[in-house]
Amino acid sequence: MIRRCDACGEAEARVAQRHTGRALCSRCFREDLLRRLGEEVERYRMFSPSERVLLALSGGKDSFVLLDLVKEVHDPGRMGIVTVIEGVEGYNRADDVAWIADVARSYGIDLHVASFKEFAGLGLDELVSLDRSRGLKTSPCTYCGVLRRRIINHYARTLGYDRVLTAHNLDDEVQTYVMNLLRGDRVRLIQGHPLSPTLSRYFVKRVKPLRKIYEWETAVYAFMRGFKFQETECPYIRFRPTLRAVVRDYLYEVERARPGSLLRILEAVDRYVERELLPEASRLGELPQCSVCGSPTAYSRRTCVLCDLLQKIGLPARLPF
Ligand code: SF4
Ligand code: ZN
Ligand code: ZN
Repeated sequence: MIRRCDACGEAEARVAQRHTGRALCSRCFREDLLRRLGEEVERYRMFSPSERVLLALSGGKDSFVLLDLVKEVHDPGRMGIVTVIEGVEGYNRADDVAWIADVARSYGIDLHVASFKEFAGLGLDELVSLDRSRGLKTSPCTYCGVLRRRIINHYARTLGYDRVLTAHNLDDEVQTYVMNLLRGDRVRLIQGHPLSPTLSRYFVKRVKPLRKIYEWETAVYAFMRGFKFQETECPYIRFRPTLRAVVRDYLYEVERARPGSLLRILEAVDRYVERELLPEASRLGELPQCSVCGSPTAYSRRTCVLCDLLQKIGLPARLPF
């Protein structure tokens, strides 16, 4: 027997949402995602209609969903996309860039394609082999994360965007919160909250409109919309921090046993940060600037992480910020 959609009562249900106990048809599922995204944008004033927003897209399914939904709630003429090519052999991002370029073109959204090679002079593979040739064992993901954040902020800042939008989903956000709770890292907990102040005038505020959408929902939605999934994954994936993998597996078990747990954890930590930590955020003050390149850096540091990484492999490059 066909099960009807619990929202419209007409079309056939295609998606079972365990966290709400409802089954939805494709159209109502899309409307549900759009509503939840819109509420989160509104609640935290992530961006306003007049603001220029830069979507940082990697090309994966979450990128697709972010772009597909945000263009429904924001003027494409005030949207830009930046995508960063790392330079990893066998991890060819040309297909990802091609679909992003197609969507950008058809909606009149500005597209900026950046690369490690063009920005830092070397691709990720070359940075890693220099690292290894010096007997170091820095995780490729460290170079990748630090450089990618620098490039995205640089584009946003120099091109006059008001916000950077990233495609982090609910699963990513809860994992990050739990990791920062386990580390007792108050500053990072504050920075993970959508109302955290921007700690430097050189940072463009980053917001995450998909933060209340489950990862399985982005996968189902992308599939329904005919998004072609990338088949190869980055060969450096095994270097990803192990704490995140442990936390992720634990959280999945909790969610399986009690559907809706991830949402409840996110909301509980949001409230805790709002009540206990955000009031002290105004006392944090402006971040210091790196004495080498001038980029904002952590309160306890004189130089930034990127300058330290480059200096250790014999590249004392002062990259723009
Ligand atoms: Fe970058 Fe690591 Fe992700 Fe590869 S797995 S894209 S190196 S962060
Ligand atoms: Zn329906
Ligand atoms: Zn620096």
